[in-house]
Amino acid sequence: SPEAAFDSFRTIDLRGKHLSPAELKGAMPRAETTFDAASDAVAAIITDVRTRGFAALTDLAQRFDGVEQHSVRVPDEALDTALEQLDPAVRSALETAIDRTRTFAKAQCPADAEVEIRPGAVLTHKWVPVSRVGLYVPGGLAVYPSSVIMNVVPAQAAGVQSLALASPPQKEFGGLPHPTILAAAKLLGITEVYAVGGAQAIAAFAYGVPADANNGELLPVDVVTGPGNVFVATAKRLVKGVVGIDSEAGPTEIMVLADDTANPRLVAADLISQAEHDPNAGSVLVTASEELAGKVRAELARQAGTTKHGDRVRTALSGAQSGVILVDGLEQGIAVCDAYAAEHLEIQTADAEAVAARIRSAGAIFVGDYSPVSLGDYCAGSNHVLPTGGTAAFSSGLNVTTFMRAIQVINYNREALQEVSADIVALSVAEDLPAHGDAVTVRFS
Ligand code: NAD
Repeated sequence: SPEAAFDSFRTIDLRGKHLSPAELKGAMPRAETTFDAASDAVAAIITDVRTRGFAALTDLAQRFDGVEQHSVRVPDEALDTALEQLDPAVRSALETAIDRTRTFAKAQCPADAEVEIRPGAVLTHKWVPVSRVGLYVPGGLAVYPSSVIMNVVPAQAAGVQSLALASPPQKEFGGLPHPTILAAAKLLGITEVYAVGGAQAIAAFAYGVPADANNGELLPVDVVTGPGNVFVATAKRLVKGVVGIDSEAGPTEIMVLADDTANPRLVAADLISQAEHDPNAGSVLVTASEELAGKVRAELARQAGTTKHGDRVRTALSGAQSGVILVDGLEQGIAVCDAYAAEHLEIQTADAEAVAARIRSAGAIFVGDYSPVSLGDYCAGSNHVLPTGGTAAFSSGLNVTTFMRAIQVINYNREALQEVSADIVALSVAEDLPAHGDAVTVRFS
C-alpha cells in the first residue's frame, strides 16, 4: 500500500554527528543498481556491436525493445511525416524550449584568449568544435523529445558540422523512435537518425558500424552525449577514451534542501516529479526540521497515490537511493549537499539565493519556490543533461564546451626565443634531455 511504501522512504539521521567529508560522502543514499552491477552485461553488448555491426543492433533491438527491424537508419520521409503530424501545441512548446536553450548556449561560447607575454611571444588559447557527434535520446520507460533539444542545441551553437542522433525503436511505431522525437530532430535540422537504444547505441557511435545490405555506414563520432538509464551511462563510461563523453548522466536525482519556511506540498511534488523517471531515480530531502519532514512524508503518500506513474514513483522513493536526511542546521545541510553533489539541487529555504551561492557541488541549482526542476527539464533555457551519481563533484552538465576543445597556439619570433633560450637549455640539462636544448641553440649558431 502507499502508506507502507512511505515508511520505506528512509531516514538518515546525521544530527549530532561530526563526519569528515569522506564519511559524509559514504553516508549518502545511493542506488544499488550502479555501474558495477551493469558493466558485465554492457561490456558484452559493446563487444557484440563491434564484432557483428548492424546484425548485432537488429538482434539487440529484438531482445530489448521487442521490435523487428529491417534497417536501423530512420528514412527521411519518416522525419518529414513526424514533423507534419506534430501537435501544434507541442511544436510551439518545443520552439519555446529551443529558443531559450539556444540563447543560453550561445552565451556560453568561450572567447579565445590571446596574450603577448613578452614582445614577439604570442600565445593563443583557441576553441575549436569537434567534427562529429553522436547524441543519445532516451526512450525506454518514457520518451524524451526534450532531450533532442538539450543535445542538439549546444552542439549546433558550438559549431559542430556532423550530428547523428539515436533513440530506442518503439514497438508501437513500427520500430522507429517515437514520432515526437523524430519531429524534434527535424525541427532542428537533424536528418541522420538511428533507431537504436541503450548501450548498443553508445557502442555504435563510439566505434562506427560498417555498411551492410540494409544500412549505409555509420561513421564513428568524436564525442557521445546524452542522458539515459544505467546501461546507457555505463556504456558511456566504458567507451570514454575512445571518444569524449559529456558526463555520466544516468538515472535522475533530486535533492531538496529545505527549512521551516518551505511548502511541503511543493517539496513533495518536486521529489515525485523526478521519481517518475525511473525506479532507480533518487529523491532526497535534506532538512533540520522534523516537522517539515513529517509533512513532506504525508504529502508524498497522498500525491503518489494519485499520480499516473504511482508504482514507479513508490519504487523509486522506497529505494536505497531515496529518503530524508536530518541535519543539525543549515551549515550541515550545505555540507550534505556538497557531499552528495546532486544532479538537481533545489534550495527551498529562507534567503535561498544566499544559500545557493554557497553550494560547491551540483549539476544544476534551482533557487526558490518558483524554480522547480521541471522548469529546467523543459523550458528554463538551462540544459537538463546533467551529471548523476556524485559525478557533479568533477564534471559539468551538457554545455557548448562539451562539444569543443581548446588548442594552444605558440608563436614566438627570433628575439623572443633568444630571450628564453638559456632557460630552456638549463632545464633540458636538468631533465637530462640535452637534445631539447640543442633544438634551440641550433637556431642561433
Ligand atoms: P533509455 O533510452 O535510457 O534506455 C532504454 C534502453 O535500455 C533500451 O532500448 C535497451 O536497449 C536498454 N535496456 C533495457 N533493459 C536492459 C537490460 N536488462 N540490459 C541491457 N540493456 C537494457 O530509457 P529509459 O530506460 O526510459 O531511461 C531514461 C533514463 O534517463 C532515466 O533513468 C532518466 O532518469 C534518465 N535521464 C537522465 C537525465 C540526466 O541528465 N541525468 C536526463 C533525462 C533523463
